[in-house]
Amino acid sequence: MTNTAQHSTSMPGDFIDQLSDGYFELDRDFRYRRVNPAALRLVHLAERDLLGRQVTEVFPEVSATEVHAAVMRVMAGGEPEHVETYYAPLHLWGINSIYPLPDGVAIVSHDITEQKRLERNLSFLAEASKVLASSLDYQRTLRAVAKLAVPHIADWCAVDILTGPRSVELLAVAHVDPKKVRWAKELRKREPVKLDAPSGLPNALRTGKSEFYPEITEAMIVAAARDERQLELIRSIGFSSVIIAPLLVRRKAIGALTLVTAESGRHFTAADLSTAEELAARAALAIENARLFTASQRAVELRDDFIAAASHELKTPVTSLKVYTQVLERQALRRGETQTTAQLGKMNAQIDRLTLLIGDLLDISKIEGGKLTLEARPVDLNAVVGEAVEGVQLTTPVHRIAVEGSTTRFVIGDRERLGQVVTNLLTNAIKYSPKADRVLIRLWEDERAAHVEVEDFGIGIDHEHVDQIFERFYRVSSPDEKTFPGLGIGLYISHEIVRRHGGTMSVKSVKGRGSTFGFALPFGERKGLPSTTGAIGD
Ligand code: ADP
Repeated sequence: MTNTAQHSTSMPGDFIDQLSDGYFELDRDFRYRRVNPAALRLVHLAERDLLGRQVTEVFPEVSATEVHAAVMRVMAGGEPEHVETYYAPLHLWGINSIYPLPDGVAIVSHDITEQKRLERNLSFLAEASKVLASSLDYQRTLRAVAKLAVPHIADWCAVDILTGPRSVELLAVAHVDPKKVRWAKELRKREPVKLDAPSGLPNALRTGKSEFYPEITEAMIVAAARDERQLELIRSIGFSSVIIAPLLVRRKAIGALTLVTAESGRHFTAADLSTAEELAARAALAIENARLFTASQRAVELRDDFIAAASHELKTPVTSLKVYTQVLERQALRRGETQTTAQLGKMNAQIDRLTLLIGDLLDISKIEGGKLTLEARPVDLNAVVGEAVEGVQLTTPVHRIAVEGSTTRFVIGDRERLGQVVTNLLTNAIKYSPKADRVLIRLWEDERAAHVEVEDFGIGIDHEHVDQIFERFYRVSSPDEKTFPGLGIGLYISHEIVRRHGGTMSVKSVKGRGSTFGFALPFGERKGLPSTTGAIGD
């Protein structure tokens, strides 16, 4: 009957024993008088370890905690209190509700460790994702992520990347103590990973599946060590749990993320495993993005180098071809061979087209290499437009090009390059209006700028393409445009030339009705005819 007597002042026994929360009852001397099974599970102790003993005797670190202060207040006659605490020796987060009893206090402890862990893991993932998305230098980002993981979710964090079928490189390793980081790096140099080992990192890399060791036992350490020396080493780190999550790209491991708990004594849970796997997935994506970006950059560089070299190489033979064709044409003319002369004339025109194309490709390389130099002289746009119209008019038997308006002031610029822009707009206007018979070119000026506009009544451009039309190699790819040959560089070069003159280009277009391309060139500060000459800078 001792039991009944002991419980006389406490809550009903069966109810307390069934509580999923921990129940600790203390007498006036802070000695445990009653605990339920949930409480014993929380503190990993047996009833005999607690009953009759003082709180601070069993848990010395408790005396400095907020919860102990609250227990003292309630014991001294205070109101019930609810305190959220973290008890480090047990890695335990809890909400403790303390109620007064006639001759002591009752503490109900609600375990929120898993919830806290989840919250912390989620905020870590959010932070790590930001870091991963912050730059395309994946080596640096992975180092930053490893640092972020320590000590929030692990005591050690390492990232290994496969550098070949038989080699793996330790890309990042983090620990709160920089000495240990150095030591880990040196160790890896001395003892490289054996990729054919049956478990651990090599296995995760091989299978693409995580390796999870929530509890590292002495037996496991003995089994893993290759020799006495390594056994000592592994023991000295004091592993308590390990997660190795592979970095998967298209289901193949390109590396792995290793998280280790050691001196903190914590053990990873299933929640930590999913956090590690999620982090590994995001890291793998970041690595893949960075690699693809580098590869595409490299491909663009190769293409540009090729264009530069090819157009340069093509220029010389085409120039000689032109000279010889002209000689042959003159000879045929002298001999009165009209048919041959006409054919050679056509050949000549085709060589001119080829020369223009090569010229455009060379211009592209010059623009990319920052080598497009422009003159800065007073230019009469009326004359530039007149010459361009004359030249382009010769190439079209169908369209009549009409000039409207004029300008009175000079602009500063490169006459030839501006002529190239006008010619390009006129050529496009004719090319993309095969069923029309006229093209308009307008000139006018206002206070600040001279304006040139070329209007055609052709196929027009869909609204969705208008923003990209001045990009390098951009061509509209709907069926209407398929029949027109071209490289998609004329407008890009024109745009660059106008931009380098401090001007702007514009386009208005209605699909099926026609387009109006134009540019505006600022006059600069000086009114009237400017006298400055020299090169226009970027
Ligand atoms: P290209 O004509 O050699 O393809 P451009 O850079 O001059 O290259 O033009 C880019 C694209 O813009 C063309 O492929 C065409 O689809 C569109 N475009 C240019 N000018 C016109 C125009 N006057 N009317 C309709 N579409 C045009």
